[in-house]
Amino acid sequence: MIRYTSLNEYCLSAFGKKLYKLSVDGGFTCPNRDGRCGTRGCIFCGADGSGAFAEHGTDIKKQLEKAVLRIQAKKPQGYIAYFQAYTNTYAPVDILRERFSAALEFPGVEVLDIATRPDCLDTDVLDLLEELNKIKPVWVELGLQTAKQSSVQYIRRGYGNEVYTQAVNNLRKRGIYCITHLILGLPDESQEDMKNSLQFALDAGTDAVKLQLLHVLRGTDLATDYENGKFQTLTLEEYISLLKTLLSMIPSSVSVHRITGDGDKKQLIAPLWSADKKRVLNTIRKALAEE
Ligand code: SF4
Repeated sequence: MIRYTSLNEYCLSAFGKKLYKLSVDGGFTCPNRDGRCGTRGCIFCGADGSGAFAEHGTDIKKQLEKAVLRIQAKKPQGYIAYFQAYTNTYAPVDILRERFSAALEFPGVEVLDIATRPDCLDTDVLDLLEELNKIKPVWVELGLQTAKQSSVQYIRRGYGNEVYTQAVNNLRKRGIYCITHLILGLPDESQEDMKNSLQFALDAGTDAVKLQLLHVLRGTDLATDYENGKFQTLTLEEYISLLKTLLSMIPSSVSVHRITGDGDKKQLIAPLWSADKKRVLNTIRKALAEE
C-alpha cells in the first residue's frame, strides 16, 4: 500500500477535526494577465484564473456565507477560507488586510489559505501574513507547476525557479505553512522531469504539495496546441502509475493536499475521464491500496 499524509489526516492531527474549504474570490487580478509579467496568462489557465469553484463578488463575508450554505449538509466543524482565484497577494497591503481579516473573523474559519505567485510576496506582504499567522494559521499556496526550464517557458509562468525557492525560504522563516502546486502531464515532460520537479519542491522545504493532473480547458492557448495535435493528455492508467512513483518520494512529514484536479467540467476538453472525480478518486485509492 502506498501511504501519504492527506489533507484530512493533516487537519485531524493539527486541528483535531476535519476542516472544509470555503473558496472565495478576493477580487484580485494577476501580473501574468494585467501586463506586469504578461497579458495572456499561463498557457493552461482558464478565464476564471484557476478559481472555478470560488464564490464571486468583493464582499468576503457574503461569499463565505454562501459557501457555508453549500456544505451545510456535511455538518462541518471548521473551515479553511481559501482565496483561490487569480493572485491573492497582488494588491496594496491595506486591501489585503481588509479582505483577509474579513475571512479570519468569519465564524468557524480556522485557517486562512492564500493561493498566489512567488513573485508577489514582497516584504510588506510577508509582514502582513506573519502578523495574521499569529491570529490563526496562514497557509500560502505557490503555483510552481514545474521546475523544468523549457516547460517554465512553455507555460509562460513568468518567474524563475530561484524566485520560488526564495519565497519558500521567506515563508518558512516566518513560520508560514507553504503548499506547492505541481502539474502532472505537461507537454514534453517525462516521468523523470516530474520527479525532478517534485524533488525540487521537497528540497526547497515545502510543507505540502498539490498534485494536479493537466487539464486542457476551452479557450486557452493550451487547448489550441492540443487541438493541433501537439501533445496528448495522460490516460488514467498512466496517471495512476505516475502518482505511485511520486507519492513514494514524499515523506510523511509533507502532506499531499490533492492527488488529482478540480477543473471546471463545462470547460474541460481533455482528458475527459477526469470529469468523473468520484470515480477517478475511487480508482486511484484502490490502486494505491493494492500496491
Ligand atoms: S495560473 Fe495563476 S499565475 Fe497563471 S495566469 Fe492563472 S491566475 Fe495568473
